[in-house]
Amino acid sequence: MKKRKFSIFPAIASLLLFLPSCAATQPADVHGSVASGAVIVETASADRALSVEDQTAGMRASGEETGEESRGAGGMVGPENEANPGQGNADTIHETGQSIRQPDSEWPAGGNTEPGSNRQPAGGNEETPEVTEELEIHFLDVGQGDCTLLLCGGEAMLIDAGDNEQGTRIQNYLRKQNVETLKYVVCTHPDEDHIGGMDVILYKFDCETILMTEEDKDTNTCRDVVDTMKNRGYERTLPVVGQQYSLGDACFTILAPSDLGDDSNNNSIAILLTHGSNSILFTGDAEEEEEAEMLNSGILKDVDVYKAGHHGSRTSSSERLLEAVLPEYAVISCGEGNSYGHPHAETMNAFRALGIQVFRTDEQGSIVLTSDGSEILWNCSPSATWLAGEPVGSNEAVSYICNTNTKKFHYPECSSVEQMEEKNKLPTSATREELIDQGYDPCKKCNP
Ligand SMILES: [Zn+2]
Ligand SMILES: [Zn+2]
Repeated sequence: MKKRKFSIFPAIASLLLFLPSCAATQPADVHGSVASGAVIVETASADRALSVEDQTAGMRASGEETGEESRGAGGMVGPENEANPGQGNADTIHETGQSIRQPDSEWPAGGNTEPGSNRQPAGGNEETPEVTEELEIHFLDVGQGDCTLLLCGGEAMLIDAGDNEQGTRIQNYLRKQNVETLKYVVCTHPDEDHIGGMDVILYKFDCETILMTEEDKDTNTCRDVVDTMKNRGYERTLPVVGQQYSLGDACFTILAPSDLGDDSNNNSIAILLTHGSNSILFTGDAEEEEEAEMLNSGILKDVDVYKAGHHGSRTSSSERLLEAVLPEYAVISCGEGNSYGHPHAETMNAFRALGIQVFRTDEQGSIVLTSDGSEILWNCSPSATWLAGEPVGSNEAVSYICNTNTKKFHYPECSSVEQMEEKNKLPTSATREELIDQGYDPCKKCNP
């Protein structure tokens, strides 16, 4: 995408884009890991042909083609989003695609938003490395957790795999995308919401390079992953800052960590992915401390898309990072009604002030980005709510757990709560009467 922003490291950035090492060290895999790779391209083009017209109309309505002005003007993107209603079709990418572009129907994408897409015009004065294959990035809705699938040139990569409940669902999603082999698996850090489902993935798919740090945790979740690796004969590949890898026409560089500290989140593997002139930053749960390390690496440049660190927590997305990378878009992966209050208001405010358009899995389901090397397309419009999560206080303050799906409320210790899907779980400090007023019924089992 064209760069409209001041870049601190323009020289390093262009140098990186043209470094031959990426392609040279990782020769193209002619076998590919996605079956019928060619079909992806055809289908994708067909989808694009269908939707670009609409999207262009939407773009013009929202004034995005004069991006410089709309950003410079300072940032409140809400009204612009509203000026983009009903353009394109959130389902286009899924329903008109042949089988490979179909996401799992259990994982609706583009959830509650007005369907539509945004299109960034190509251009700018930066030279763009030759790109012939499309890149797709699927930010899977795994509730409170992270899971991102990247597909390019018939090769597949997975960053994290949600919590323990998500393994099989992710497996099914990958199968529907015709993924057979994962060229790369990245376990950003050993927290359950990132590696919980990874044992299933490692067991079910052939994985070529598994990037993970040496940090293990004394948890069953972590042991499951380590044991599965042993059983499958997999070795872990330790992240080395500055190391580059290729995924089809895309290329990624390890930004952090350079060493391990006591805090798992700040040991997250952070990567910068480039595809033509587009760049996407993934930081796992890295917080301010590790963000500073990424900035000091000298590798980081301005980016188009920022996968918001730590589910939109205020401990990440520091001012320093945001101002250095000035993303056009942020994607937040978090669970609806999560008990951490993600995304935090501070983060949402910072994004809004910088004119960053936000996509979020708790509101929009799985989110799919398509890059042709210069333009970025989305399967849905950015979120227009700017809602922060509702922080749930200490456990003593929680009186009941509501199920937002069945509209029942339970005592926290009710056995039904354990079986409740995380996305439907809403802890509350409201009284019984207040909940009944809100349309909730008391559970028949625990009789609250
Ligand atoms: Zn996390
Ligand atoms: Zn974490």
